[in-house]
Amino acid sequence: MVETSELKIDEIKVPGYEKVIHALNPSVGLNCFVAIHDTTLGPALGGTRIFPYGNEKMALDDVLRLAKAMTFKSALAETGLGGGKAVIIANPEMDKTTNFLHAYAEVVDSLKGKYIAAEDVGSTIHDIEIISEKTPYVAALPVEGSSGDPSRFTARGVYWGIKAAAKALLGSDSLTGKKIAIQGLGSVGAKLARHLFWEGAILYVSDLDEAQVENVCREYSATRVDKNKILSLECDILSPCAMGGIINDQTINRLNCQAIAGSANNQLHGENLDALLMQRGILYAPDFVINAGGIINASVEFDDGGYSARRSMTRVNMIYDTLLSIFEASQESGKTTDQVAIQLAEFKLKNKLGKRAKPVQF
Ligand code: NAD
Repeated sequence: MVETSELKIDEIKVPGYEKVIHALNPSVGLNCFVAIHDTTLGPALGGTRIFPYGNEKMALDDVLRLAKAMTFKSALAETGLGGGKAVIIANPEMDKTTNFLHAYAEVVDSLKGKYIAAEDVGSTIHDIEIISEKTPYVAALPVEGSSGDPSRFTARGVYWGIKAAAKALLGSDSLTGKKIAIQGLGSVGAKLARHLFWEGAILYVSDLDEAQVENVCREYSATRVDKNKILSLECDILSPCAMGGIINDQTINRLNCQAIAGSANNQLHGENLDALLMQRGILYAPDFVINAGGIINASVEFDDGGYSARRSMTRVNMIYDTLLSIFEASQESGKTTDQVAIQLAEFKLKNKLGKRAKPVQF
């Protein structure tokens, strides 16, 4: 059983990033990139995405974009963490053997805590548990003292973000009778549907997984929408909770909603899309603000006194106020909500607001 002997790590110099590595371990077919964008405020915590990228450039572009977004997300939410991400080029259905995950753990371990791995698209908290057998630099495990599944907190944060969007648009944050379209009913989207249902929202949903669509339609009286039509559905709020890049040159003119407020990372794919949304009168809740619930929850496990779900909930609820202030500043300044949010995150980074006072203990 070869686990470690063939690991090869190359550093790639990328301007603006603290450290980017490309790691290969042919003995188990591991091919991954880890990007540490910024650790000014604390160690870089970010998910490990496992996805069958078409080529290495696509994987590298993705990890760079995702790691930078994590810096802004954590800075804005004052988690005392920096921004980083990892991507593994692999098929999550076929390739995740124990040896494969242990070989990846060796890569994480080599970074000595500058990067802390958590779950992401294609990886589960159980994969992270296997990774934790070989490195302590992991978060959000399903065990006592750890923060567990982040998606329940992400969904709760998105729910608050949707209420903030309703408040900014309509003067009331009640969602009763509001038409809300959810794209993607995975870990976050399905939990979000539950929050919205109990508040009286009228739900429209789509997913590639028909069984999941059926479940959500049955449990929450939601209406099934064809996956090619969900973005153009006439609704109050569109909540993208599947993959990133869904707002692009091809889709922007088809949107038929008043606001976009969902969990997907990197929703805007292209130049000036935030400005075009503003011109079209569509309120955009910046993804890295509204979807911070999971990272906020994970950060709480590094607090003095250890993890507390209640402390985490209080912080996640603050996404509502953060978004309202971003919407207000956008309206007053004429800047897009994305520009306002980025400027706020940069201000916090520059002035080290929320910087972790003591090093994280592993
Ligand atoms: P997931 O993999 O559990 O669910 C994604 C769902 O989207 C799946 O059910 C999939 O079938 C569906 N999907 C994919 N493409 C689709 C399409 N074209 N149309 C309709 N459905 C489609 O992922 P998740 O954990 O629920 O995360 C959803 C999004 O939120 C991702 O972009 C993720 O990066 C982001 N996010 C998640 C968290 C978290 O805590 N899980 C935190 C922050 C951001």
